[in-house]
Amino acid sequence: MTIAIHPAVDRGIHKGTDHFAGGTLRCQCAHDPVEVRIDAQVAFNHACGCSKCWKPAGALFSVVGVVPRDKVAVSAHGEKLSVVDDKALIQRHACSACGTHLFGRIENKDHAFYGLDFIHTELSKDTGWDGPGFAAFVSSIIESGTPPSAMAEVRQTLRSKGLEPYDCLSPELMDILAIHAAKAKGTYREA
Ligand SMILES: [Zn+2]
Ligand SMILES: [Zn+2]
Repeated sequence: MTIAIHPAVDRGIHKGTDHFAGGTLRCQCAHDPVEVRIDAQVAFNHACGCSKCWKPAGALFSVVGVVPRDKVAVSAHGEKLSVVDDKALIQRHACSACGTHLFGRIENKDHAFYGLDFIHTELSKDTGWDGPGFAAFVSSIIESGTPPSAMAEVRQTLRSKGLEPYDCLSPELMDILAIHAAKAKGTYREA
């Protein structure tokens, strides 16, 4: 039995095209889709097992990455967007008709990731996006109903696709969070 992680992983992961400068995300509405123009390549794209990220039907993981928030612009039918949970750290702006999340935004200026918006590049037909490079919050798929007995096979499948599984974010991103915390505490040392 093969485990379906996410279509963008199962079909084989694409590497980003050099000089790719973005594209247009569209929700899944057949009529009057919300469109969001992204004028940047995605960074830190990854498979995410948390229960809050939007994922296509049948997928165990979402695929999500970040772009600078000033490179994100709603270009059509913004009137259909609403925030899924305004108490959440990441405010996920979703289409109120089809439920697709177009972008997630952090409004807390003190957060290490402030200034970055979270996007799902699969919503774009443009080719050149950088595919996922690791898997985050893998253990969290248990909270969405995956039996614990399946976890060894899930992690093995992720590794076989070239996605190192982590149960939080990747070490690089965890370090960015810790650097931010250390600077806030005054304990940060360069070397
Ligand atoms: Zn929609
Ligand atoms: Zn997530």
